[in-house]
This record gives sequence, C-alpha cells and structure tokens, in this order.
Amino acid sequence: MDIKEKVAYIKGLTDGLKLNESDDTVKVLKAVIDLLEDVSDEITDLGELYDELSMQVDEIDQDLSIVEDDLYDAEEDEDDFDDFDENSEYYEVVCPKCGDEICVSEDILIEGSIDCPNCGKNLEFDFSSLSADDINDSEEN
Ligand SMILES: [Zn+2]
Repeated sequence: MDIKEKVAYIKGLTDGLKLNESDDTVKVLKAVIDLLEDVSDEITDLGELYDELSMQVDEIDQDLSIVEDDLYDAEEDEDDFDDFDENSEYYEVVCPKCGDEICVSEDILIEGSIDCPNCGKNLEFDFSSLSADDINDSEEN
C-alpha cells in the first residue's frame, strides 16, 4: 500500500463511521484527512519528478562519459602526433652518412636542408630527381 492508498483507506474508514458532520471534532478530523490527501498527492508528484530527473541525470552522465572518452582519445592522438602537423605531407629521407631514417615535412623539404638528428650531418635535398612533368604539374596547380 503506497501513501495515497493509505490516505484513501483512512478516508474510507472515517466515511464508514457516519460521523456527525456538524460536530467540531469531526470537522477537524475531515480537515486533517483533506490535508493528508493534498500532502500525499504532492509527495507522489515529487517522487515521479524525482524519478524522471534521475533518469535524465543518468543519461547526461552517460553522454558525458562518451564525451570524456572522446576527449581522452583525442588527447592521446595529439600526444602521438605531437611533432607532426596533420595538414602537411611527410617524407622519409635516409641519411647517407649513418643510414638513419628521418621524417621530413614538406616545408623542410622546400627549405632544402636539415641536420640529421642522429649524426648531425647536414642533408641537402635535391629536386633534380623530379621529372619536368612533376614540376610543371605543381606549377599549374
Ligand atoms: Zn645521419
């Protein structure tokens, strides 16, 4: 029996007593039962609102954890590619002195040289290996 059913039960009991409605004590009793009805209605409404709110908070919590996971993954990705700009292309260059493979950005390639991070030899990039067609294509674009 929930709170509303209990109040209805008490109301039913008092109605069954066939009390004298003009009696002041009966008036007070009826007023108290009316108040109990109002209070139980309010509490039931609040309980339903609370359940609804709890469900919404659960949903927000779930959504938030998805966002947090995405954010965490994105931060990890950022760490992985710390030295890399995703908008630039990268080329692997092999140092002729030590044989180390170096990742070189397009910008550095255009600059024409880089010091090998392994042995310190200054590497110069020679574009003469590109065919004339390649150069013409890039100039048209
Ligand atoms: Zn080297």
